[in-house]
Amino acid sequence: MTDDRPPVFDPGRVEAVCFDLDDTLFPFEQYVRAGLLHAADRVWVHTGRRLHDEILALYFEEGVTEGTFDRLVERHDLPASLVPELVEAYHDHRGPLEPYPGAEAVLARLRERYRLGLLTDGRNGQGKLGRLGLAGYFDAVVVTHDREFAKPAVDAFERVASGLGVAPAAAVYVGDHPELDVVGPKRLGMGTVRLRRGRFADRPSRDDAPPDAEIDRLDALVDLLDPSPPATGTEERPGR
Ligand SMILES: [Mg+2]
Repeated sequence: MTDDRPPVFDPGRVEAVCFDLDDTLFPFEQYVRAGLLHAADRVWVHTGRRLHDEILALYFEEGVTEGTFDRLVERHDLPASLVPELVEAYHDHRGPLEPYPGAEAVLARLRERYRLGLLTDGRNGQGKLGRLGLAGYFDAVVVTHDREFAKPAVDAFERVASGLGVAPAAAVYVGDHPELDVVGPKRLGMGTVRLRRGRFADRPSRDDAPPDAEIDRLDALVDLLDPSPPATGTEERPGR
């Protein structure tokens, strides 16, 4: 197929590709569901009440995504002192998580040509990577949860670039959030790719900070970043 459009990213300039984690490499809903059910087990142990369906409905149907356990204990007249333990149980679940279909193949392919980084604000970033079986793909991992340099601070993006030993301008950042994953890296001169999946898929991009490219599947990254090896000895690549 001949495609005369210029590449979005200069393949001679890009040395590293950095990824967000939640809703970029795996559906965050999976983490939430497993965590909520783990917390519901804890409620069962303490109170003898099975509120598994109620917890899921509270979060996914009623949209109580903040203070979910506060609302639960209030509604079911449970001791408020249970809340911190439920929050811990939510994050302590250690069962396996599944990456998006094809995500691993994309990482493996890009790794042939680029250094790969991961930057996440999410709690338990390292734990999630392990549960996803993806830890081995990354040359640098930065988890900023509750740190002063969390996204959208540019420091977060600088840290992952320096961890990879590349200038920010030689890196591309891929994430699902139209602001957190775009504004900071753009300010540093990083390339930006917005993946329209997950919780923020329908949120518009900012007019003053649009991403360089938008994709709705991770495997579109492979074409976008043109990881085919450059032809040697010729400026022209037949068939392209
Ligand atoms: Mg995300």
